[in-house]
Parts: sequence; structure tokens; C-alpha cells
Amino acid sequence: GKYVYSFSEGSKEMKSLLGGKGANLAEMTKIGLPVPPGFTVTTTACNTYYEKNKNLWEELIDEIMNSLSNLEKTLGKRLGDEENPLLLSVRSGAVISMPGMMDTILNLGLNDIAVKALSKNTNNERFAYDSYRRFIQMFSDVAMGIPKYKFESVLDRIKEEKGYKYDTELTVEDLKEIVKEFKSIYKRELRKEFPNDPKEQLLLAIKAVFDSWNNSRAIVYRKLNDIPNDLGTAVNIQSMVFGNMGKTSGTGVAFTRNPSTGENKLFGEFLVDAQGEDVVAGIRTPQHISNLKYLMPKVYKEFEKVTHILENHYKDMQDIEFTIENEKLYILQTRNGKRTASAAINIAVDMVNEELISKEEAILRIDAKQLDQLLHPNFEEKALKEAQVIAKGLPASPGAASGRVYFTANDVVNAKANGEKALLVRLETSPEDIEGMVLSEGILTARGGMTSHAAVVARGMGKCCVAGCGEIKIQEHKKEFRIGDLVVKEGDYISLDGSTGNVYLGNIPRVEVELVGKFEKLMNWVDEIRVLKVRTNADTPKDAQTAVKFGAQGIGLCRTEHMFFDETRIPVVRKMILSKTIDEREEALNKLLPMQREDFIGIFEAMEERPTTIRLLDPPLHEFLPKKEEDIKSLAKDMGISYDELSKRVEDLEEFNPMLGHRGCRLAITYPEIYIMQARAIIEGAIEVKNKGINVKPEIMIPLIGDINELKYIKDFVVETVDRIIEKSGIELDYLVGTMIEVPRAALTADEIAKEAEFFSFGTNDLTQMTYGFSRDDANKFLVEYDSKNIFEKNPFQVLDKNGVGKLVKMASTLGRKTRPNIKLGICGEHGGEPSSVEFCHNIGLDYVSCSPYRVPIARLAAAQAVL
Ligand code: ADP
Ligand code: MG
Ligand code: MG
Repeated sequence: GKYVYSFSEGSKEMKSLLGGKGANLAEMTKIGLPVPPGFTVTTTACNTYYEKNKNLWEELIDEIMNSLSNLEKTLGKRLGDEENPLLLSVRSGAVISMPGMMDTILNLGLNDIAVKALSKNTNNERFAYDSYRRFIQMFSDVAMGIPKYKFESVLDRIKEEKGYKYDTELTVEDLKEIVKEFKSIYKRELRKEFPNDPKEQLLLAIKAVFDSWNNSRAIVYRKLNDIPNDLGTAVNIQSMVFGNMGKTSGTGVAFTRNPSTGENKLFGEFLVDAQGEDVVAGIRTPQHISNLKYLMPKVYKEFEKVTHILENHYKDMQDIEFTIENEKLYILQTRNGKRTASAAINIAVDMVNEELISKEEAILRIDAKQLDQLLHPNFEEKALKEAQVIAKGLPASPGAASGRVYFTANDVVNAKANGEKALLVRLETSPEDIEGMVLSEGILTARGGMTSHAAVVARGMGKCCVAGCGEIKIQEHKKEFRIGDLVVKEGDYISLDGSTGNVYLGNIPRVEVELVGKFEKLMNWVDEIRVLKVRTNADTPKDAQTAVKFGAQGIGLCRTEHMFFDETRIPVVRKMILSKTIDEREEALNKLLPMQREDFIGIFEAMEERPTTIRLLDPPLHEFLPKKEEDIKSLAKDMGISYDELSKRVEDLEEFNPMLGHRGCRLAITYPEIYIMQARAIIEGAIEVKNKGINVKPEIMIPLIGDINELKYIKDFVVETVDRIIEKSGIELDYLVGTMIEVPRAALTADEIAKEAEFFSFGTNDLTQMTYGFSRDDANKFLVEYDSKNIFEKNPFQVLDKNGVGKLVKMASTLGRKTRPNIKLGICGEHGGEPSSVEFCHNIGLDYVSCSPYRVPIARLAAAQAVL
């Protein structure tokens, strides 16, 4: 096989073989951008390396050495040469970019001889030794696993002794001393000399990159981002260019557009006289990219040109790494830039207007899951004005977050486990902090710029982040930070505004967002394309209004039981449940009737002519019952019976397995009067609203049907009740009666059920629970283990199990349509707002999905993407 490709051989289409970085380095070489030459060792080589028990093999080594000697010829330099040494960078490059997860080694090829030649050739001894000490540290840390801090403490000590603030102040003599000390650390740690032979250095470095594919940070990142473990990483071996050659050199990172807002303006940072990770690591505070215009106007102009070329070529916003060596620009990396949801939308819509991409492409560009972050509330303006700003950092990733302060990722994990909202506050974050970052409401760092680890990762996660907030002095061991005299301790509440960088004291309340501007425009395009309708799950007029604002076309599930839990109603509900006689029960139901009618009027008014599916009472009755002794006592008094008698009735209602017990339609078979009251409330409410000139469309849904005869029995008395009311009112009112399909038997006999049901709504939460036989309420406890052992690809309660549960849905749809061709089909489980499940629903031809109000735009987008 061929395991090594020169940059001039590859292209951007070869990502899976060359990795993202390698493919783009090749592409940029192809289109004539200034990329330092080099070659890529393929992902196949990485996988083969693992097959060979982590050994490099002869054929591969030969190929690498061959490519190396070609590179040497091209550049007229040789690795380890006494006069003209070639230096290399060894860079990992996975197929899907994994920022900060894999490490890079720079300045490879230096040894005691090459460093002298380098210093002579560049006439810059300081630079040569600065590169050498960097190389020893990176090689030792990345390739050989010697902890970084051992080297850093030497640097810190020398800087302190000499009274320096920055690394750039180190003199040649200092650097020589550092090199010596670094080498002795290496020898002490590994009990052997630092490898002098550059070819040995190179092979060790390649091996280290392959090994890093399976370091724990990489594994965690892949898991979080659903990246397969068997992709492997490529290794890029590239000739070095030097940003650390003095004031006319530097290195930087830039986005072609603003990754927070989407604004079409170059956004980035650079550092003069610096190399590699200096910018990202937040060691010195970088300058804004626009300053380059003044420092090196010609370079800036050229860089601007390159950014335009790259954007036009990739037709997407690019994240570009560059280095300037003595006023000569080099491009070291480009990739599609990570961005916030709002930036993604603004950029996509702008690019359609700029005729760079089509509407369809714009729609496909938006990650439906990522939209979530946009739809969530902002700080309440009034509360915000009153709140005290205690510090200001960089607005690294937008969003509004409040929570309790914690200083380590681990503490955030624990706080979260205790049900707290936690904010992660750190000096700076590193890949080890990933889990805590995921679980936090937001992230605050004291160090680092807009392209620091915290900023990049937070934007990718859609998490609020304020970075580089230098005013806060963190004392991790004391679990507190200070701003002047103010002390904020672990567990105290603060709030972060990721759009302004403001840090507030206290827990600021939040408010809803609006769908306007470019977001609205994009959603209009989405609606032109999609076929699947999107409804919402809403139990209150307020939720219904929110959902309509977000584009809901109806209610797919209105749960009536939540209305029963209201403080003023629960005593009546309890009486209704605990009544001994029908009369008693009807008396309580008569009290509930007007309350329920009011609920439905509010909901119908919010939904107007949009279809509204209302589910009759579903949960087991004991959920409504008093549990505390005092509650039982007061209810007993109210009902005029003894405490003992009432306790006994409560006990009688207890079930071993309530979720498979007396609930849903089974309740109405025992107590038809409950559903009769609810049907009455629905229809009387509908008539009242229709009288106001609104053409309401009520749909009555009977839950937990498993057998046609259950449905038939209930439907008969519901229809009889409803028709009598409609007839008496003299008004014309269309309504439907249908059922949930959530018991597997109902799915299996859907052709029979459809004889009575005018619509099916797949209740995929229960259907998943019953198909797997997993209790929804307990499953998460053991699904954690499934997750860590990779038994399931996805949690089936979050992502519809297409092969099993989905098969039932598909089959029941077909059967239902066979009996009743115009039957309405929808789903109303949590899955209705999950993009891959929405796609599935589109593919099997359902009429609609229904999801929580905030997920409506996500479902709309996913439905359009399913068409494309
Ligand atoms: P990451 O994937 O973590 O971004 P990279 O391989 O891009 O790692 O390397 C990190 C940084 O190292 C680059 O941004 C660049 O500044 C520096 N670097 C990499 N290769 C070279 C090179 N050939 N010459 C100079 N600097 C380089
Ligand atoms: Mg990079
Ligand atoms: Mg259910």
C-alpha cells in the first residue's frame, strides 16, 4: 500500500485518508497558497500500526524516509545537517477536527550540532536556542510523557531569578542554560540521553501521534462528539517556518468571519515573536488581528487576500492558522470554523445573499441540535440593570448563564450530581476539564484569549463562556476568587453574559427569545422546503403561545393531568379519586369541569384554527394522592371520614408496578365518568371559542390502548357525550377521536385499531419503555453502564431506536393507513424534537412530529434537512 502522500499529491476530498488537516494542507498547496512543504502519513497507517501492536514497520519507515529525502531535495536542507539543517513539525490530524486533543511537536531535528548551524545560518543565536528549548520540552512531554510542569518550573524559576515578565526577555545565555537543564530532566526521568539522531526523533514523534489517538482526552472527546474510534489519525510532517525570529515575525489564528456573531469581518489574534501554541495557550495576551495592519501592512494585505481566496474556495467561514517569518506569510492550517448557532445562521443567510451558496446549502449548514442554544432565554433586562457587574472578561461564547461557582471540573461534576446549577471557574481550561465543561451552565476563565481552549470548546458546545477575565484572582486551594476586596467563594451564585463578557454577582432571572431577522428568514426557507408538519407538546396557554411564536402548527399532545396538580385543584382531584360512590365522584368531577373548561378555552384561543390534540387522563391515580400524614389527615377531615379509613383507601390504590398498572384508558374503563367530564370540558370549551369566530379543531386522544375493544368501549361513550353537547349547542363543530400508539400490542394490531381511531399519535416514550421493557424512571441508572460499555449507540429514550421501536412505528403506520387511508399520523414523544428521529418520521411518511415549544424550530429545520 501507499502510506505516505506529499502535500502536492493530496486534495480536500481525501480527508478520510489524510485527515482534515492533511487534506486541507494539500488543497491549499494545490491552489498555490504559501504552505511550507511536507507530507502526510495516512490514517490507514495509523490503523495498521495498531494492528501491528503499536509497532512501526519497515515498509512504512522506508516510505517515510523516501518522502523525507524528497523534501530535503526540494528545500536544499537536510535533517540533522551540520551546515543546513532541516527542521520539521510533526502534527496530528484526525478526520474530524479535534481541537486541542492531540499534540504537535515543533522544531524537530534539532540537536547540539544542528542548533549551531541554525544559529549561524539565521545569524540569530537567540532564536536558535529558543527553538531548541521548545523542541526538547515538547518532545519530552508529547512523545515521551514527561510532565510539562517539570520544564515550566525551570522556566519560571529562571524568569523570577532574572526578574523577567515574558519569555521573550530570556537571553541566549539563559536559553543555553535552560537547554542544559531540560536535557538533564529528560535523563533523570527516562534514564537515557535525549535522542540526538533526528531520524530517531522523527520516528518516535510519529509513534507518539499514533499513540495519542487513544489517550484518554481523545477518547472522551470522541465519545462526546459521536466520533467513531476506528477512524485513526494521520500524521503531518512539515518543514518549519519560524514566527519566533524577532519583531518582524509572529504567529496567529484568525476566522474569516466573527465566530460568535457571524459578522463578516476578519476576527483573530496574533503574537509577535512567538511560535506555535503561544497564542492559544494564553501565555502572553495576543493582539487583535487588525493591529497587524499597522505593524506589517504588506503582510496584512496578503493575509486578507488569502482569507478571501479560502472562503471562496471552501464556501464557508474558515478558521486559519498562520505564521509570519521575517515578514513572509505562511498558512499552516485551514478548516471550516466552529461557530455559535447565531453566527451559523447569520453566516449562512449572508452567504446566500452573497450568492456564495444556495438556500438549500444554507439550511444544511445549520446543525439542528446546535439551534437549541439560540432558543434559550436571555437575562431579564430589568434584573440585569439592577445586577452588579463585578468584572469583565472577553465575550468568548454567547449565552446567559447563572449558577454556583466551582473551581475544578470534578467539583462541577459532583455539584451537578447533587442537582445544582454549576459554573466552572478556572485560571484556564485544558482538555482534562472537558467533562466539567459539558456539565457546567457556563465557563469563566482568568486567562486566555478568544481562541483559548475554553473559548473554542465552549463555542463548539454552545456553552456560555467569559474568558481572559484578568481581574479575578483565583485561589483554587482556598476555593475562592477575589476581585479587589470582593471574595466569591465556592457555592456562591454568579451570572455570566457570554455576549458582553460581563460577570455579575447573584442569580439573574432570564426571559424568552424572539425569532426575528436572519433567523426568521432562514426558517421561512425551511418552511418552503419541508413536508413534515411540526406541532408542539403544550399543557398551558403560555406554552402554546411560545410554541406558536416558534412556528408550531398545532398541539400534538396536551397532557391534562398537569392541570390536576394545581394547588387549588388537587384537593378536589383527591376527593374525586377517593370517592366511594359514583355520586360522590361526580360531585367532585362537577367541580373540576369548569376549571378544565377554562384550561381548554385558553389553549384553544392560543392555538386558534390549528389542530389541538388533547389527551385524556393518563397517569396512575395514586400519583395524585397525599403521602404525608398531615395531608391525609386534613383531607380526611374535609371528606368527613376517619384518618384510618382514608389511609386504607390510599393504601388500596398502591400498585407494585404503577407504570404498567391502573392508568390511561384502564382508568376510564373503571371510571368512565372521568373521561366523560374531560370530553365535556373539551367540547364545551371548543364551542365557546368557536362562538367567538375561531374555527377550533379539537382532537380527543385516548391513551394506552392495547386492544380495539378498549378503544371501542371508551370511544362510544365519549362520542355519545360529545355529540349530545354539540347537538344541543346548535353549532357545527368538527372533532376527531383517536388514540396513542404506545403499547406494542396496539402497534401490532394497528389495522384493527384504525377501525375506531381517526388518528394515531405514537407515544414513543412509553413505546420505547414497553418495547425494551425498560422502566423510563429507572433506566438511566443502568443505562449509564450501557453507555460506558458501548452496548447501545444512543440512549433510546433520547434518540428513537429506528431498528426496533421505529419498526413498530413504521409497521403500525402502514397497517393504520390500510384500514383508514386518510388516518392522521404523528409522534409526540421526546423524540419529536430530536433531529435524527425527525428525519426518520419524515422518511416513513408521518404527517407531523410534536415536541416541546423550544424544540419546534429544531424540528422544523430537521424536517427540511430530511427532504434535502
Ligand atoms: P492543533 O491541531 O492543536 O491546532 P497544529 O498541528 O495545528 O495543532 O499545530 C499547532 C501550532 O503549531 C500551529 O498553529 C502552528 O502555530 C504551529 N505549527 C505547526 N506546524 C508548523 C510549522 N510547520 N511551522 C511553524 N509552526 C507550525
Ligand atoms: Mg492547528
Ligand atoms: Mg404514555
